[in-house]
Amino acid sequence: MSFDTLGLSADLLRAVGEQGYTEPTPIQIRSIPVVLEGRDVMASAQTGTGKTAAFTLPLLHKLAGEGSGKRVRALILVPTRELAAQVQANLDAYGRYVGLRSAVIFGGVNINPQITKLARGVDILIATPGRLMDHMQRRTVDLSKLEVLILDEADRMLDMGFLPAIERIVKALPIARQTLLFSATFSQEITALAQRFLRDPVRVETAAPNSTVELIAQKAIQVDQAKKQKLLSWMIGNEDWKQVLVFTRTKHGANKLARQLEADGLTAAAIHGNKSQGARTKALNEFKNHKVRVLVATDIAARGLDIDQLPHVVNFEIPNVPEDYVHRIGRTGRAGREGLAISLVCGAEHGLFSDIRKLVKAPIPTEVIEGYEPTEPLSRTAGKVQARGGSRQGQGSGRGQSQGRSSGGQGRSGQGSRQGSGRSDAPRAGSSGRSGGSRSGNRSGGSHGNSSGNSRSSEGQRSSSSGSSRSWGRKVA
Ligand code: AMP
Repeated sequence: MSFDTLGLSADLLRAVGEQGYTEPTPIQIRSIPVVLEGRDVMASAQTGTGKTAAFTLPLLHKLAGEGSGKRVRALILVPTRELAAQVQANLDAYGRYVGLRSAVIFGGVNINPQITKLARGVDILIATPGRLMDHMQRRTVDLSKLEVLILDEADRMLDMGFLPAIERIVKALPIARQTLLFSATFSQEITALAQRFLRDPVRVETAAPNSTVELIAQKAIQVDQAKKQKLLSWMIGNEDWKQVLVFTRTKHGANKLARQLEADGLTAAAIHGNKSQGARTKALNEFKNHKVRVLVATDIAARGLDIDQLPHVVNFEIPNVPEDYVHRIGRTGRAGREGLAISLVCGAEHGLFSDIRKLVKAPIPTEVIEGYEPTEPLSRTAGKVQARGGSRQGQGSGRGQSQGRSSGGQGRSGQGSRQGSGRSDAPRAGSSGRSGGSRSGNRSGGSHGNSSGNSRSSEGQRSSSSGSSRSWGRKVA
């Protein structure tokens, strides 16, 4: 299917062509015509599916021609400044022949330039809820003539506690307006929000709610918390990953991990809410330009990061909220490209990861890496480690054969049933000189012998995506 059939103007089609897009993504095919019709839309759209263009293109089409900049005609509410900046970049790119004025306002920076820009006149305003409330209180923004409201990543805005702000903002808007709600996941809260703010919305679901983007190969590696960092350094070096986004749960954890990776000879930067906007932008740019190989981020800071062809995402710690997993791994496999998402799961996170499996409804093979075999008991409950001697689910009969120097390869399964026959020969085990500058391969906690272990995945299924789901040289289960 081509973009020409969606009803968009020639100016927009030209700009889309210049972006190199050859055909619309499923969310664009489904959303653009109904938005053009003027209907409210509630769309479940995972990040990386082209959702921004799904609402910005019809928005630009509708507002084109009448751009005066005298009143705000459309408001796009987003959870983070990164996403705000990114939506504006998209609007600039798609709207280059349309001649509308847009502005972006978010917190953490001086408000005065934003006031000046608003005073000059804006057609489309992109804003985070907190800073927009500030402007409303100062009466530096007038939303009384608004025609279109877009809530982007609505689930994340609720997670971040923006509901009261959103309620107050929506109260100040005209009732006769078009409202579009985009959310990666459809929780009860999101459905309730949609019932209150949307009128007879068309529901657009391009994938099963909460399912993960199909092109992302997912796998879990069971490893003790204390060994995660060394394992990560080793994987990056040994697999020669050039660009890895790593998630931690806390800001402090992000800083610490970035420092440890640097100590292992990898270039790394941390990005989180305590960093200034300038520092965040710098870190992101260095990562995008391949000056920094590893970007360590907290969930909130990573929202909205759009990095072309990001091949690897690592969950260094498992998120407390299962939906965050969907957001995190959506950073890879963007716009039809393949990606690999790896979760390092320690014993205490076993319960959390089980919840994620239920949510995403996808098989996520579990592996154990030689030299990093877990010793911690598996907890069913988030954050709670069972007493030693308690039941160890799924331990036991794995027969990963390894000829590595150390373990002799009695593998362990983390997830119980072992119907698996996924067999992976490990061609590059212990490959010397492939560590891309990382010293970690020689310093990590385990041995790096010439394992050529046949291995099994405990889910009985290898990751589906081809190129990305490579086997690990040292995998033992
Ligand atoms: P989004 O889900 O909006 O964050 O978009 C993810 C990425 O897909 C962005 O880099 C967009 O530039 C890109 N993109 C959006 N629509 C298309 C399309 N139809 N074809 C190819 N890439 C696209």
